[in-house]
Amino acid sequence: MSTECGIITGRMNGRKRIVILGATGSIGRSALDVIRAHPDDFEAVALSAHRSREACESFAREFGAKAFVGEDAASRAVEESDADICLVATVGLSGIAPTMAAIEKGMDVALATKEVLVMAGAPVTHAAQARGVRILPVDSEHSAIFQCLAGGRQPLDSLTLTASGGPFLDGPEDLSSVTVEQALNHPRWKMGPKVTIDSATMMNKGFEILEARWLFDVPADRIDVVVHPESIVHSLVTFADGATLAQLSPPDMRVAIQYALSCPERLPAVRARLDLAAAGALTFRRPDPVRFPCLRLAREAIAAGGCAPAVLAAADEWAVGAFVQGRIGFADIPRAVENSLEKLDNAPCDSVEAVFEAARRAVERLETRFC
Ligand code: MG
Repeated sequence: MSTECGIITGRMNGRKRIVILGATGSIGRSALDVIRAHPDDFEAVALSAHRSREACESFAREFGAKAFVGEDAASRAVEESDADICLVATVGLSGIAPTMAAIEKGMDVALATKEVLVMAGAPVTHAAQARGVRILPVDSEHSAIFQCLAGGRQPLDSLTLTASGGPFLDGPEDLSSVTVEQALNHPRWKMGPKVTIDSATMMNKGFEILEARWLFDVPADRIDVVVHPESIVHSLVTFADGATLAQLSPPDMRVAIQYALSCPERLPAVRARLDLAAAGALTFRRPDPVRFPCLRLAREAIAAGGCAPAVLAAADEWAVGAFVQGRIGFADIPRAVENSLEKLDNAPCDSVEAVFEAARRAVERLETRFC
């Protein structure tokens, strides 16, 4: 760090080498923005994409990184790279295997793919502890909590995750006939389609309770959710003495991505800072449990334990895909998830293989019986 005019300006100790899995998606492109803004601090060494070959190769040329494209591109990018941090920003279940590979190689994991901890929280957390690597949150809420806890782990009372409420916060009352286009029209955040639909059902927030439980080792009954449509306060930590700390910034994922890559240092912002007077009022309210049953389903899966959270996420991934393809309606998404949890023959979730098997069985059941 260096000091100018009494203000500490962020500098890293050397360049961090970064692998980006899902480089052409929303988070991947934002991460490349961060690296582009800080060429002395970060170096992209490998980029992977599932399908977008042209974009991935073009970014790879720009950054002097290796490009990996195709079905197993993420795992190959990890295997064939030497990096300090692996940013996992693939979609859903597909993030688990490359995350485990990165941990085994001793890379810190900057985790954007929340399903990795939602589905495989126990095996992934244990592997990271055993290998002595960090799992750094990229999700804005968890980044907020991580930043609020930066002063050390003082006696905690609870965590509060903020939720934008998605596009259907204030209507329509009956969500059964909303369209894919409406569900993809998020009022605040520009994100990939899966997380945008999850935000519309509020399953995203259910997943984030699970994510927080694993990242911060706080039981789910101490993780509250509050709707905050302005998406300025990204989450809060309440300590035992009743003091609550919050992290505020504009709704731009680059803030959280940059902190995951730079922490514990802070680098100059990629874009304009928060203007509180322009933001005006910040409002908070309780989520509606009737219109958004996914929050309840997530809490039920957490209480059931074992592979129930893996089934929750696998059924949701299937249902969101089926909704986007026009095979089921919006209100069928929570129905498919609830149906899967009711039929669950629960098993201990002690390995990645157990997670994949529970997910495979849930999806197979939904394909044959739900449609
Ligand atoms: Mg989030």
